[in-house]
Amino acid sequence: QLTDSLENTLKNLRGQGKLTEENVAESLREVRRAFLAADVNFNVTRDFVKSVKEKSMGAEVLNSVTPGQQIVKIIHDELVAVMGGETKEINLSAPSPVGIMMVGLQGSGKTTFAGKIALWMRSKKKRKPLLVAADVYRPAAIKQLQVLGKSIGVPVYDEGQGNPVEIIKHGYQYAKDNGFDLVIYDTAGRLQIDEELMQELEKARDAVHPDEILFVADAMIGQEAVNVAETFWNRLNFTGVCLSKMDGDTRGGAALSIKKMTGVPICFIGVGEKLNEIDLFHPDRMASRILGMGDVVSLVEKAQQVIDEKDAKDLKKKILNNTFDLNDFLKQLRTIKKLGRIKDILSLIPGLNKLPLDQIDEKQLVYVEAVLSSMTPKERKKPQIIDGSRKARIAKGSGTDAARVNAVLKQYESMKEMFKKVGDFAKRQNNGGTIG
Ligand code: GDP
Ligand code: MG
Repeated sequence: QLTDSLENTLKNLRGQGKLTEENVAESLREVRRAFLAADVNFNVTRDFVKSVKEKSMGAEVLNSVTPGQQIVKIIHDELVAVMGGETKEINLSAPSPVGIMMVGLQGSGKTTFAGKIALWMRSKKKRKPLLVAADVYRPAAIKQLQVLGKSIGVPVYDEGQGNPVEIIKHGYQYAKDNGFDLVIYDTAGRLQIDEELMQELEKARDAVHPDEILFVADAMIGQEAVNVAETFWNRLNFTGVCLSKMDGDTRGGAALSIKKMTGVPICFIGVGEKLNEIDLFHPDRMASRILGMGDVVSLVEKAQQVIDEKDAKDLKKKILNNTFDLNDFLKQLRTIKKLGRIKDILSLIPGLNKLPLDQIDEKQLVYVEAVLSSMTPKERKKPQIIDGSRKARIAKGSGTDAARVNAVLKQYESMKEMFKKVGDFAKRQNNGGTIG
């Protein structure tokens, strides 16, 4: 799975100094493998990798993140760009009634999306929608739209199993004559691309000139999505893409491939069978989802804001020289608190990413901070001076007890011990200034 393999790459890259040709190449190999496994189209993958490579090679590694995280950020940003950068909104500025035609293979989710979009437009955009039942080949299809329309209180125009092009034309006129400002045409699909269907859709389009033609694709289909999308694109020039079934165990590859191959933005995603289970498509969220790295990306961004580069350098030096005292401990603790999840943050700090972070218990840190805050700066600088009476005072001041104070001091000792190992390790690796 894409998520796992990228996480592995990230792990492999932790603790290295800068973006080198080698570690970039390694993570790109991983991206290539992962994309292909997620059914991203081969050409799309090749272009993507090329462009990330160019961007990575020029990039400076921020002091506060590991090279692996830096690369993931570059990959993420590139993914966002490829997927269109911003959310596409349906064009509602056209003269009323605005027309939206749903197209796509059978079972892709057209009828469901027709209902979802009607509901969404009414509640979010204060529109008055009409649904038009132009899938005439299966009696059940008309019934499905009627049931759906009824459940959300949106009228459905139908003529039974008549001529779909005529139904669409009449539906448009009906909307116009009856004060609807939005008309959504639900059309038929086939299990596969079919010449007869394409001609019918072209005729329907030319009859009413819809303002938007939305191609609906099932997010679960992989490589095949590209061929289907290309055919529909060549014949119908659709203006937007809707991805259904994003709630399933999907391989987000389809989103990426369709956008890249047709250049048409994705506007909505379906995240369930219920009619309110629709979301605007956000390229940045989708990128995070494809990468499974949402947390890492936002952490990198947070770290850029909060962790001062100079602080990070000082800290590194102290770890290397084994002069990390309780004042530093307290300072780090407070930085960390600003950020939230401690384990992740520590792993962003150069040098600390080699520590066994799973042992950290976040609740304990509240006490640790209380104890540290009750010490004098001098005590924090030279913990050896903390004798029995000082301990009693610190315990009282922090609302804890002597055992807790001892525990903090012991924790500091073992932390120092770990830092010493990290420092020694870094020196042995002969890259004295650049752990992390
Ligand atoms: P159409 O043939 O293109 O009109 O497809 P339908 O709208 O009838 O949908 C086909 C099936 O997929 C139905 O069982 C829907 O309930 C289901 N479906 C559609 N969209 C979604 C979605 O976003 N999530 C899930 N889980 N199911 C969906
Ligand atoms: Mg249908």
